Amino acid sequence: PRPMAQLNAALSSTAAKRAEIKPGKCVVHWFKRDLRLHDNRALALASNMAHKAGIPLVCMFFVSPQDYEAHVVSPRKVDFELRSLAIVKADLEELGIPLYTTTIEDRTLVPKHVMEKAKAWGAKHVTCNIEYEVDELRRETKLVQSCLKEGIDFNALHDDAVVPPGALKSGSGSQYAVYTPWYKSWAKHLAAHPHLLAASDPPAPNPAEAKEIFREIFALPLPEAPLNKILAKDEKERMASLYPAGEHEAVARLERFVEERISKYKDTRDLPALHNTSILSIHFSAGTLSARAAVRLAQASSPKFKTDLTAGPQGPTVWISEVAWRDFYKHVLCHWPYVCMSKAFKPSTSLIKWDYNPKLFAAWREGRTGFPFVDAAMRQLAHTGWMHNRARMVVASFLAKDLLLDWRLGERYFMLQLVDGDFGSNNGGWGFSASVGVDPQPYFRIFNPLLQSEKFDADGSYIRKWVPELAGVEGKAIHDPYGRGAGAKAKKAGYPPPCVVHKEMREKALQRYKDVLKAN
Ligand code: FAD
Repeated sequence: PRPMAQLNAALSSTAAKRAEIKPGKCVVHWFKRDLRLHDNRALALASNMAHKAGIPLVCMFFVSPQDYEAHVVSPRKVDFELRSLAIVKADLEELGIPLYTTTIEDRTLVPKHVMEKAKAWGAKHVTCNIEYEVDELRRETKLVQSCLKEGIDFNALHDDAVVPPGALKSGSGSQYAVYTPWYKSWAKHLAAHPHLLAASDPPAPNPAEAKEIFREIFALPLPEAPLNKILAKDEKERMASLYPAGEHEAVARLERFVEERISKYKDTRDLPALHNTSILSIHFSAGTLSARAAVRLAQASSPKFKTDLTAGPQGPTVWISEVAWRDFYKHVLCHWPYVCMSKAFKPSTSLIKWDYNPKLFAAWREGRTGFPFVDAAMRQLAHTGWMHNRARMVVASFLAKDLLLDWRLGERYFMLQLVDGDFGSNNGGWGFSASVGVDPQPYFRIFNPLLQSEKFDADGSYIRKWVPELAGVEGKAIHDPYGRGAGAKAKKAGYPPPCVVHKEMREKALQRYKDVLKAN
């Protein structure tokens, strides 16, 4: 059975027994990647239970260095999460709710800690939101059972995806492996189940005595980032100014986007120089914003959405369909959990012969391939920890199909750099671009980096911003300085010539994909 099915089974088979458990001295909510007070399903449930029973709510959060390693969480993302955690702590304190935080070096001890703390505080109910990666699903499944043995109700709720994974089935009853029919079914499901888009209430204030009972927890300092995740001072400052943390900032950004830019989204979303996308991925991946809240606000922008999320004005309709991609990849994770284990969704593609060329990999990482659009994108990533979606697709395709390097190298490098790193979306994006994933780009559609550059950065302003060596190159030569008469200028400025010949590499890539597909 799949880990998601095991968790569902553990929850449903114990539901009756768990429902009999009487309130203890407090209710516990375990924060993970849901760092917000508003519209947080499990937190709302914990708060309601506590309020009804007239007992305090206590929250917990663990820094787990081994988890960061296992999931290749970038130092930038850890930093963003810890900055957001500080805001959660302050907001909880205003409500008299304590947040217990600590670092647990050995990730296998996290469940034991959850249970021991609940026992020590006399809690009989513990809630959390479900994370859809394999290890987490297995951990939560065990917790349901081991907590019950101690007379504790451990409940894990769907919250991160707008439509819970497993809820959508194709006509033949199987999981969709193609986005478009899945998306139609997603929109239909939401029209039929509008409660999935409803907001949950933020927690109610704790009874006054909680301040005294949990004095020691209130006094705890926030945990530090693990040693290998600490950012240099200048980078920390840059990240803080680029990406202010926490849910208040997330909601303000969402509101600004819906008010000012969403109507132009369809026409401008592919142009990386324009900054016209929402840049909310950072908030979604830390859980400082729920995808539900985002869809709800976009939906409110037009009455046409009332009954059908695909039927509104083009800007918000397309944006909602992009947020749905995030859900799609979470559904994929749950149904085909082997993608969490460095395995391609399409198993046959594991046989593609990749080159091992550390020099080319370094040129790609450093933005020194001699393909200006690719280099601009890679430098944007290195400097800001974020990259525009069109650019992500181009550099990913370039790594696999122009450099013939294993896409998993790129997948991992992205996770090490991204402030919005999200396993499902990153794995899905790499699978799409390298034609090894679910609903992928057909293998024979190989992006021509020059044409992509001309189409999506026509005036070269994205390139000029991120590749300052080429700032003085005028006109169309910016897309290909060595091929269009600006080679001397580029060379003098220290910009390298192209590291490969696209046409030749394209042929090689086609052959390698064909070899494998023919053999299977
Ligand atoms: P907007 O255009 O404003 O879209 C709104 C939201 O929709 C995004 O915040 C995101 O949550 C979701 N979304 C949009 N496009 C996609 C998509 N193609 N797949 C999944 N969700 C999408 N996104 C991540 O959040 N984390 C990643 O680690 C990640 N890695 C990627 C790697 C590759 C190779 C590719 C091609 C895409 C990757 N994406 C990833 C998806 C996408 O590039 C980003 O979500 C998007 O660029 C974030 O910018 P935004 O918030 O301004 O997006």
